[in-house]
Amino acid sequence: MTTRLQGIGVCAGIAFGKVHIVDRRRLTAPHYHVAPELRAKEVERFERAVFASEEQLKEFRARALEAGMPQVELLLGAHGMILRDHAFYDACKDRILKEGQNAEWALKDTTRGLKAAFDRLEQDYFRERRSDVDIVGDRVLRNLVGVETELLDHLSEDAVVVAYDLSPADMVSLAKYSARGFVTESGGRTSHTAILARALGVPSVVSATRIMQLAGSGDEIILDGGTGELLLRPSASMASRYRGRARRLRLEQKALLADRLLPAETSDGVRIELLGNIEVSGEVESVLLYGGQGIGLYRTEFLPIESPGVAGAEAHHAAYQRVVDAVGDRPLTIRTLDLGADKNLPFASPTGDLVPSWTPERGHPSNPALGLRAIRLSLRDEPLFREQLEGILLASATKRVRLLLPFVTAVEELRRSREIIAELSRKLESEGRPHDPNLPVGVMIETPAAAWIADLLAKEADFFAIGTNDLVQYVLATDRGNEEVAYLYRPCHPALLRILDSVCRAAAVHGRPVSICGEMAGDPFHSPLLVGLGLRSLSMTARAIPLVKRMIRKLSLAECQDFAKTALGLATAGEVEQALAESLRRWAPDLFGAD
Ligand code: PEP
Ligand code: MG
Repeated sequence: MTTRLQGIGVCAGIAFGKVHIVDRRRLTAPHYHVAPELRAKEVERFERAVFASEEQLKEFRARALEAGMPQVELLLGAHGMILRDHAFYDACKDRILKEGQNAEWALKDTTRGLKAAFDRLEQDYFRERRSDVDIVGDRVLRNLVGVETELLDHLSEDAVVVAYDLSPADMVSLAKYSARGFVTESGGRTSHTAILARALGVPSVVSATRIMQLAGSGDEIILDGGTGELLLRPSASMASRYRGRARRLRLEQKALLADRLLPAETSDGVRIELLGNIEVSGEVESVLLYGGQGIGLYRTEFLPIESPGVAGAEAHHAAYQRVVDAVGDRPLTIRTLDLGADKNLPFASPTGDLVPSWTPERGHPSNPALGLRAIRLSLRDEPLFREQLEGILLASATKRVRLLLPFVTAVEELRRSREIIAELSRKLESEGRPHDPNLPVGVMIETPAAAWIADLLAKEADFFAIGTNDLVQYVLATDRGNEEVAYLYRPCHPALLRILDSVCRAAAVHGRPVSICGEMAGDPFHSPLLVGLGLRSLSMTARAIPLVKRMIRKLSLAECQDFAKTALGLATAGEVEQALAESLRRWAPDLFGAD
């Protein structure tokens, strides 16, 4: 009997194969009291297990580098740091020495306490970090009781790995003995499994509830990493339907990639710059592979994913330098931290606080989207902002880098940022450290206030980047993550069109370049509208680039401009969408023809 499950697709592609269960169930640990005179020996036993774990992680790090997976190597490094972290290492030793717990028991109690602290946090990113503690604890436990962690070295060619969770070490093995797909019960979009699966390009589904209960080793399985669908023991007709779908996907992908070096140019010769949005340095490669001409938005708030505990200007510089090196002489725009609201990742401030400043103890703001977010937080927590700005300045020494400020609502925010940048530039100058003293500073236009004062901002900012993800949510008063009001989240709403039009005009009056980097830029359905309204630079997720390029090559500027004029006169989002759909059926029948 076929079983159909729905998880979250985190890396597109269809995989067919046989289930290979990776059982990472916890070992049972013996619990006993240790007499005071034997406690020092017990601590030594614990230390030996930590040392052995460190050695194993070192080996995995070397394998990760060999396999060309720097992100995995960094994650394994983070696990090494947990091993020696005060909250882990010293806490275990204290439990042995002061409470007389045996090493396994001390280890279990310590990891349980740390995991519970993570569980109390609301954001997915933090909750998913509990699995790091789990993975590290499991490794030490296995070294204590002398049980090897199963290495995924013996996968059959058609293996689809099914697990409760997969550690970065597992993923290193899998990179060598390649699996066709990954399915895990746990994890979300920002889990390690998801991040690494994308980095490896392996079709994957996470959050597949009950898969470990329902799947047996050797079962036939089909997974769709785009839609998150899973079919266990599929019937022959289902399998053939999916094979057809997989074939079409492969052909489409091939055709799109074949065009990747063609210019993104309209039929009447207008060049449109297509850039990539990235969260971690490793993504630069995919942007270039998919034909991107550079990086239009580097979201630095995801930095702790590849540089856990990043702190200090030098550490920021090192992280940005990785991107600078990968991008070469192509354009690169680095956005300063957009922490707060939906993005809460752990950043250590030089003041000793974790930012954002709300924590479970201090309480959660009732309206985070309108709270202390992005540039507001940076200007409030200036020491951290200074570290980041100095890091970006240092990264500008060898190539032209642009600095982008998120969530600006007032000219003062731009002015204050510029003052700090000028101060830091003088400091670096006096220290003889090379950097670009004229680093271009731009602002995100993603709030109604910024859009309304675009003419004033244009006088003082070097460039604009329009962030429609937030702009739509704030202009239409519609939470971008709330499914119940998703029907109101319409980028084609006349209010948005008017705003895009007036922002482009304000930028043009002052000769400021303007780009767009919200999801709208990566949807070919919107391309004619954006080009017609005057946008010449679009930045998007890597995989969206080929299709948008294909779309652009079918358009003519004159038609797009006519269309934009008509669209600006329409009364509803529905009317604009319908007009777009009709025009696209004519201009790009292969992409938007009738079904
Ligand atoms: C946006 O708001 O459109 C944007 C690009 O920024 P983010 O999605 O990171 O908020
Ligand atoms: Mg935004």
